Amino acid sequence: MSSQALISVNNLVRYYGDVCAVNDISFELHAGDILGFLGPNGAGKSTTMQILSGNLAPSEGEIRINGVDLLEKPGDAKAALGYLPENPPLYREMSVDEYLHYCARLRRIDKRSIGDALDLAKERCGLTRVNRRLIGNLSKGFQQRVGIAQAIIHSPHVIILDEPTVGLDPIQIREIRDLIRELGTQHGIILSTHILPEVESVCNRVQIINAGELVYASDMQGLLAQQSTDRYEISLSRPPATDAMLASDCIDRVEQLDTHRFIVHVRGEADCLAAEAVHNDWGLRRLVAHEHSLEQIFVNLTLGEGEAR
Ligand code: ADP
Repeated sequence: MSSQALISVNNLVRYYGDVCAVNDISFELHAGDILGFLGPNGAGKSTTMQILSGNLAPSEGEIRINGVDLLEKPGDAKAALGYLPENPPLYREMSVDEYLHYCARLRRIDKRSIGDALDLAKERCGLTRVNRRLIGNLSKGFQQRVGIAQAIIHSPHVIILDEPTVGLDPIQIREIRDLIRELGTQHGIILSTHILPEVESVCNRVQIINAGELVYASDMQGLLAQQSTDRYEISLSRPPATDAMLASDCIDRVEQLDTHRFIVHVRGEADCLAAEAVHNDWGLRRLVAHEHSLEQIFVNLTLGEGEAR
């Protein structure tokens, strides 16, 4: 391993009574990682997040935050970590400055450094013009920025964000995603979300948890490679019998969807399939790649699981 992991989770297990919510998961987060943490409801995401943030004890396993054992030295480990829970702990009757000052004190930032810490967090989160506004009067997007500002006020190595764009409008979502990307240049980030395009647009790694177990882990390059396809959906106005299609050198397998539509597995490029359709006068209407989207991967791995346990 080239660099020390910012988070290292080994064989994490958590039971609630007889229910095994997290079953022997292990993973690492490194500097520069924005890790998308996905799973259906009841998969064990919140339990994992709460354990990583030091708010819930594991039944078994080891967690190191920036090299420090979370169970042995929780204070030191948590100092390296910022957490935005699904429902951020905001005090609506406080101004932005009052609240962030309070958070800085909770984080034991030295009194002389608090002003600088506030300025930096507000600048990074685009809050400089709302210093004195009451949090309760801010839009949901700005409240979320305040939630993120409290998570980074102590310049942690790792930031854990639980569903940070839920309830925001499309413009606010775009702004918060930009902010997450920007934070990812200086911190390691774990992002829990249900929004798969969010993972694709913001993250450089993805892992999927299902029924308490890690069932998928990949970097975005691996995901993109998996998305490259040899399957195409083709629509033909004069389709031949499937045996006639299989006679072509470039066609490996054919699944008929209806009278005119087929899923065709090709050997080689889509061009050869198009050329074959034109050459044989099959009446080519449409030819599209049949990709394994992240959504498809997610559905294949998690269908029928989750709360059903
Ligand atoms: P997710 O965040 O992925 O929706 P959770 O971590 O909340 O999943 O839940 C994982 C499993 O643990 C589910 O089966 C859920 O019902 C169960 N669970 C979560 N919290 C508790 C709790 N406090 N007591 C008992 N069971 C719980």
